[in-house]
Amino acid sequence: MTKTGEFAGAVAVVTGGSRGIGLAVSAELARAGAKVAVLALDAERAAAAANSLEGEGHVAHSCDVADSAACRSAVRMVEKSVGPISILVNNAGVTRDNILVRMRDEEWAQVVSTNLGGAFNMTRAVARGMMKRRAGSIINISSVIGLIGNAGQANYAASKAGLHGLTRSVARELASRNVRCNAVAPGFIRTDMTAALGEAAAAELRQRIPLDRLGEPEDVAEVVRFLAGPEARYITGQVIAVDGGMAM
Ligand code: NAP
Repeated sequence: MTKTGEFAGAVAVVTGGSRGIGLAVSAELARAGAKVAVLALDAERAAAAANSLEGEGHVAHSCDVADSAACRSAVRMVEKSVGPISILVNNAGVTRDNILVRMRDEEWAQVVSTNLGGAFNMTRAVARGMMKRRAGSIINISSVIGLIGNAGQANYAASKAGLHGLTRSVARELASRNVRCNAVAPGFIRTDMTAALGEAAAAELRQRIPLDRLGEPEDVAEVVRFLAGPEARYITGQVIAVDGGMAM
């Protein structure tokens, strides 16, 4: 359950905050009082998402997280217009599935540069400010696929496993400045990304989920809110699966 006012005055950036898990995270943080900067590729969708959030002071920016200069400039704009960032949720992600021997260079590069490169670009852009202020929580949205792998998703699995290494390294490097970094690894969550699989594949996947249902974006968003907040003050460098028990 959201605690109203938990993040009053805090500024949160959510990449890929316009749809799916990112939108649920933005809504959850806004309900808890944060001012949220929604970043996404599509400016109109990002603006609509920011407008839909509870409370005041939310903003939207079009930003390709794979572009490090765009990330630096988005962070500058948010800090100038809204205030110092204390929560970063690296959620933007894409899939370009293909079997290994047919995977094209672009499919590999696009997934790795968005899912892993994007988190690096954004984390580096906010880190100095967070370290100076000795306050910050960074949450990377990875995937259980980064833990267990998946045929046809070598690029996606590698990018998400890479996020786990990034999470632990950032956690070690920034801990002395009271900046925490954790990852949430969702299982199979109902969003546009998974809708493409169709009902038959979803039913087959469900058989592999001990809690016997697909996840909802809110299942992930509430864990992100917990990790962002004071109740998680002694938790850093962790990867928490939110997957109905799929990857035990
Ligand atoms: P989604 O519905 O496809 O939404 C993806 C979001 O990422 C959109 O807001 C999109 O913006 C944004 N985005 C994509 N490329 C971007 C880029 N280069 N720069 C900035 N923003 C970009 O995805 P989702 O299912 O909510 O997934 C969110 C995260 O959870 C991803 O990292 C995904 O890998 C992870 N995840 C999802 C599942 C699942 O079952 N759904 C499971 C495990 C992990 P636009 O609207 O502008 O396109």
